[in-house]
Amino acid sequence: MTLPYAEPLTRLAPQPRVIPEPPRVGEPGGDPCGLCDWLADYEHSEHQPPLWVNEDWALIRATGVTIPGVVWLASRGHHDTFADLPDRVAASYGPVVARVERAILGLGDIARVHVYRWGDGSAHFHVWFFPRPLGMLEARREMLPLWADLLPEAPKEVVADAERKIAAAMAAGD
Ligand SMILES: [Zn+2]
Repeated sequence: MTLPYAEPLTRLAPQPRVIPEPPRVGEPGGDPCGLCDWLADYEHSEHQPPLWVNEDWALIRATGVTIPGVVWLASRGHHDTFADLPDRVAASYGPVVARVERAILGLGDIARVHVYRWGDGSAHFHVWFFPRPLGMLEARREMLPLWADLLPEAPKEVVADAERKIAAAMAAGD
């Protein structure tokens, strides 16, 4: 693993804890959940529709993509954590994630598909899929999102082509 920064780095001490934490998007006191609004009426949105949807899940494009194939999966309903998902939605999570993983691996030249759930920005359940490019050993494990944040944005047509292929693979599995 290699940090995408040159040495020497300076180790920081943890900051004083902030309690209570500021509200996230989509929780009481925070900004309203724009994802709920968009998922309820994406056909009439100025933004591109999800890559794939079923009654419980939506697979969505990322913005500012540096590694083609980065996408995110959100629940259709407003649930926060895994623990909040209704049983039926929770039961379908594994099979849906497997389908997304297969669809991304189908792009080729990908060593592994990382799945991240942070949950620190929005209180609407979503997970990120990051393809780790084959041979990019410096981006193993937690280094991949750091590298993805610093790499130049990928050409729009390359990103769109990857998204088209992922959408087609998901549709083929319906
Ligand atoms: Zn929501």
